[in-house]
Amino acid sequence: MITDLVQIRLLGEKKRDENERFRRHMKRHDHSDRILRRIAEGIEEQIDCTVCANCCRVATVKVSQRDVERLARHLGIAPAAFRAEYTTQSEDEGAILRRTEETGCVFLDGTACTVYDARPETCQRFPHVVRGNGSIASRMWQFIDRACYCPIVYNALEAFKVETNFRR
Ligand code: SF4
Ligand code: SF4
Repeated sequence: MITDLVQIRLLGEKKRDENERFRRHMKRHDHSDRILRRIAEGIEEQIDCTVCANCCRVATVKVSQRDVERLARHLGIAPAAFRAEYTTQSEDEGAILRRTEETGCVFLDGTACTVYDARPETCQRFPHVVRGNGSIASRMWQFIDRACYCPIVYNALEAFKVETNFRR
């Protein structure tokens, strides 16, 4: 199991082409999502996200109206005030949480989420290997980038390759 973030970045980038081929392999070959999810759960159990938080530093977080209402209630402010202070518009994704140069997500303090109990739905499900919409194969396009910064995704893809007899 590789958890060092420098190594993950180097290996994830080096394997971009391979992971793209693996994405196509997953689409073409039958596999059991139940078994892959169980493998991913085993990997999640071995990795402590509370000492990593790399996704909070690296990835943007899309927020829905429901997320805004929950976060605003948690902070004791109006949804409009929350939008003005803590969100920004992204060309591709719409409303996202505001980010800073130092921390990434505006709510990250060290490796702790300061709004953990009210965090957006996408954060609750991240990195979407075990929990996510649709089949694992249909979510594979997201994992190629995530394998460059998330130890769970990197290690899960490597284990999935073995499970599905992917030839490198
Ligand atoms: S989801 Fe991935 S990147 Fe985020 S904290 Fe957990 S291991 Fe780190
Ligand atoms: S809201 Fe919390 S969990 Fe989500 S990216 Fe920000 S710090 Fe991380």
